[in-house]
Formats: sequence, C-alpha cells, structure tokens
Amino acid sequence: MKYAIIIPDGCADEPQESLSGRTPLQAARVPGMDEIAASGVVGRAQHVPAHLPAGSEVATMSLLGYDPSTHFTGRAPLEAAAQGIPLGPHDWAIRCNLVTIEEQVMRDFTAGHISTREAGQLLETLRLDLGAGVWEVHVGVSYRNLIVFRAAQAGGPFSEQTRTTPPHDLTDKHVLDAFPRGPGSDLLNDVMCRSLQLFAQDPVNEARRHAGKPPATNVWLWGLGRAPTLPPFGEQYGQRGAMITAVDLLRGLAALIGWERIDVPGATGYTDTDYAAKGRYAVNALDHTDLVCVHIEAPDEASHEGDTAGKILALEQIDRHIVHPLLDKLRACGPYRILVSPDHPTPLRTKTHSHGFVPFAIAGTGVPPDASATYDECVAQASPLAFDDGWKLMRAFLGQPWSIPANGER
Ligand SMILES: [Zn+2]
Repeated sequence: MKYAIIIPDGCADEPQESLSGRTPLQAARVPGMDEIAASGVVGRAQHVPAHLPAGSEVATMSLLGYDPSTHFTGRAPLEAAAQGIPLGPHDWAIRCNLVTIEEQVMRDFTAGHISTREAGQLLETLRLDLGAGVWEVHVGVSYRNLIVFRAAQAGGPFSEQTRTTPPHDLTDKHVLDAFPRGPGSDLLNDVMCRSLQLFAQDPVNEARRHAGKPPATNVWLWGLGRAPTLPPFGEQYGQRGAMITAVDLLRGLAALIGWERIDVPGATGYTDTDYAAKGRYAVNALDHTDLVCVHIEAPDEASHEGDTAGKILALEQIDRHIVHPLLDKLRACGPYRILVSPDHPTPLRTKTHSHGFVPFAIAGTGVPPDASATYDECVAQASPLAFDDGWKLMRAFLGQPWSIPANGER
C-alpha cells in the first residue's frame, strides 16, 4: 500500500461575503480534491486541543498521528530539530522573528519577508552584542530564526508558565500587552529591547527604508520550549515516511519521527512557491517510500494577508500541480490511500490561526464512498465522520481494512 498526505496549511475558512457566501475552498476550482471526496469520504477533525496554541506546531503533530497534549513542548524545539541544532535536556529553543513594529503596532510579523542575507546581517549584530555566554543565535530562513538558551542545570529561568505571543496573532494590533510574561520573561524582554536599539540605525534597515521596504525594527521572541520526545513513526504506525515542506517546524517534526526530508528547489513556503516541483518530487518519492506528505504553506500565508484571491489561487495550484499528479501516480502503483487535510483553520476575517474542526477527504483502496460530492467545510460539517481527537485520524487513514464506524468516531 502507498500513501499520500497533502496539507494545504490553514485552508479551512468561513463563508465570505465577497464570494457570495462561499468559503475559499468552495469558490476554488479543485477537481482533484473533489474527486477524492466523491470517490471516498469527507469528515472533520480537530487538531488543536483547547488548551494549546492554535497553530501548525500543534496541529501538524496531531495530523501526523501524535497526541499534542502528550508530546507538544513548544514550536521552537521543532524548528531547532529541523536545523540540526542539538538541544540538551535543560536547553530552551526560542523562535526569533524579525518584525516591523511601528508606534507600538505590529505592522508586519515578517518584516516584509526580509531576505535571509539581510536577516543574517542584523542577527550577527545582535549576536555580537549578546556576547559569548548562555545565548546562541541561529539564522534560519527569512524572518524565521532561532535563539537557544543553553542552561547549565535544571530549573533554568523559563518554565511552562512562561507566556509569549506569536507575532502573527498581533497583526495590526498593539503589542504593549503582548510582551513575554512569567518566569524568565525579563531575559526575553531584554533581548527584544537590545535588538530595537541595535537595529534602529543598522545599514540593512536604512537600505530597506530607501527601497520602500518595511524595516526589521526588532526581534520578537516566542514559542519557547525544551526538546520533545516523539516515538518514531515506523514504530508507531509501521510505515516509512517522507516529508516535503519549506517550513522548518514540519521539517523538524519529520526529523523527530524518523522521516526522510526531501528538499525541493523552488519551494519557498509562500504563495510564489514552485507547486509543480513539489508535485514532481512527491510523485518520485513514492518509488522508494511508503508514505509521502506534501505540506504547502501558501494558503495560510494568503490568509494572514487577508488575500482572498491569493488563497483561492493557491488552492487551485495545489490541486492541479500536487493532488492530480499524486492521484495519477497512486492509481498506477496499485493499492493506495490519499488524504487531503489542512492542519488548522486560518480565517481571512481574522488573518490568524484558530481552533476548531478542519475538513478532510480520504479515498483509495478499501474506502467505501460516502455521499460527499465535494471537498469543503460544509460537506465536512454535515458528515457523521468527526474526530474530536484529530491525532486518531492517522490510524484510521492507514488502517486495513478500512474500519471507521459509519457513525464516526467521537
Ligand atoms: Zn500561519
């Protein structure tokens, strides 16, 4: 049996007035996804437990079959794993965004999708200022970077009670109440403060202002945690997996569960990604692995920008260049299963991630078709197939024979 999972990040949404009451998924022309729905089943699953932050760091862990209530320790440790940064038992990884804050309002949590080169220059200034000691600065891609706090012993400055705010939840909002709080927050606030002073006159920012681009005013620290322990996917589910994604936290998750990670040239984690290349690499991966997972960040990014047309276009590109080729390949290979599901909703209205159910569609060998004709939120809402604990969906997806009770799993 061969398996494919396609994750259009954040694609679940609400009916839009501008789309005559349809959701972006309903408005998009996605014949491949609809074919999966028509030949298989559509249901809904909830991948973010109420007590955890709504975001891909929790939701994709659940979607890949791991209970986030047990395993989630924070977002940054997953990204550290992606970058091959080892974490000792007392170390803390911390996400370090480059952001644009003006008049205490979060104008841009990406600092205008700042280039990795510019990010590297700014962070080098910060690194020199912090000096040798407990802090380690790690340059990632664009605005997504990491800082590691190397603690000599247990009982370090931070704890599970340390509160930080994801900057993408602050778009166009005042930041004064959103700075880190709780144990060790003074250390985090100090680093953020230093960066503000250091970056103000930095040549990188002067050049950006001249070019009409938003400056990276400072770093925003969030998502801290210690290294999680995740049992390998092969042990847990008996399949070899491979991950295609441009996003570090999914690369990290893949690394931690023992999956191969496949780099695709031209995959950007944005709406300008090379969809066709991702599709081609996914199709080829099925020649040597049991399960391939393709994650596409573009619909989520379009939602963060409130870009309805961009979100629809991203869904159509995913359908044409990734879902279709994978469906063709799987059918030519023999027994197969295919799953399409976002990790969490990212409503265009709020421009940020939310808790709640997302629609999924599964088709393939042994999956008896239900009455669904299309893949969208309304069909999922009406389906008897619902997973309150979304992480249980993986076992159902891989299960042979197909064994989801007709009245769903509550
Ligand atoms: Zn997002």
